[in-house]
Amino acid sequence: MKNVEYIIVGDGYAALFFAHQLIKNNKSFALFSDGRKSASQVSAGIINPVVLKKFTTFWKAQEQIDFLKTTLAEIEKFTKKNYLVDENIRRIFHDEREKELWLKKSQTEELKPFLSTEFSEIEGVKNPFGTGKVEQSARLDVAGFFKDFPNFLEERGHLMRERFDYSKLDPLKNQYREITFENIVFAEGMGVTENPYFKNIPLNPNKGHHIRVKLSENLQNDFTIKKKHFLFPLNEHLHFYGGTYDREQLHHKIDDSAIEQLINGLGEIYMRDFEVVEEHFGFRPTVRDRRPLLGNHSEFQNFYVFNGLGARGILNGCFFAEVLFRHIENGDEIPAEVDLKRFDF
Ligand SMILES: Cc1cc2nc3c(=O)[nH]c(=O)nc-3n(C[C@H](O)[C@H](O)[C@H](O)COP(=O)(O)OP(=O)(O)OC[C@H]3O[C@@H](n4cnc5c(N)ncnc54)[C@H](O)[C@@H]3O)c2cc1C
Repeated sequence: MKNVEYIIVGDGYAALFFAHQLIKNNKSFALFSDGRKSASQVSAGIINPVVLKKFTTFWKAQEQIDFLKTTLAEIEKFTKKNYLVDENIRRIFHDEREKELWLKKSQTEELKPFLSTEFSEIEGVKNPFGTGKVEQSARLDVAGFFKDFPNFLEERGHLMRERFDYSKLDPLKNQYREITFENIVFAEGMGVTENPYFKNIPLNPNKGHHIRVKLSENLQNDFTIKKKHFLFPLNEHLHFYGGTYDREQLHHKIDDSAIEQLINGLGEIYMRDFEVVEEHFGFRPTVRDRRPLLGNHSEFQNFYVFNGLGARGILNGCFFAEVLFRHIENGDEIPAEVDLKRFDF
């Protein structure tokens, strides 16, 4: 029999950032990864403190950005690689009115740190009204992060490359197969619907697609372009463009209409030919008030859920992993805004 302080179920942003907390605090743990590519691995990796439709920001944006930077620097010490791509977002303005709104918002206390007042035009794409730069925005090297960090966990003996089988979990003995544990953290994203302990948490899937494209003439951009969706270089041959949002069509396959939406969106800004090389989709675990879900089971109090990261998996995952960890270890209160108890279900 093996004994660990924690079991983590899942391998996306929620699970990996929680694993980082455990490593940092010298906790023993086993993380179960079923190896499926889901939301985290198809995500764009954008780190963005601004809601770019309305030019607003969100709860604790600055704290979250700062905390993410510290965390990624700590992870870099483990894997010896940097995953923070220091490329800002440039938002293409639709018209003069939007530019004025940006300027007005950039004078407010909460948006001043994020909305640059220096506008610029960019070459190679259509931007007749120019672009605004989002300060402190950046990107995560998603592929590198999800390759290296699980490998690091494996080398340290934490990673179980297998699906966690709920029927083998004995909640009275705190035992899973041959492992006994003190706490278990479920971080399965939309996979939580198969978890008998938390399947009813108020989570809604929001399906997102992205495409990888070969541009006939490469853009010389070291920034992320945003109009309808995000466009940035993945390497010298491929650009990422996405992602879409859809709450209705939830089957597990590519939707032609989403791909068409992306092709049209890219065609609006990139006037030359391009070829779609890959298509991907995933399901964002979203909550109606757009805040994560953290808490424990009413009966089995050492069973925790960490979910609802929504469209901001990186910032939410990183920041609230520590909040949950401190709650479990030190009894710190979970803020009411993200507490599972705010919902009756
Ligand atoms: C197209 C798209 C673009 C996005 N872009 C961004 C972006 O730019 N920036 C950003 O911050 N967010 C982005 N997001 C949102 C982000 O991806 C999600 O918020 C985040 O991935 C949710 O992470 P998670 O760990 O909760 O869930 P998931 O990523 O779904 O991870 C859960 C994992 O657990 C595994 N699992 C489930 N059940 C079990 C089990 N029983 N045993 C073992 N393993 C199990 C699953 O296979 C899955 O891999 C994007 C999402 C999409 C779809």
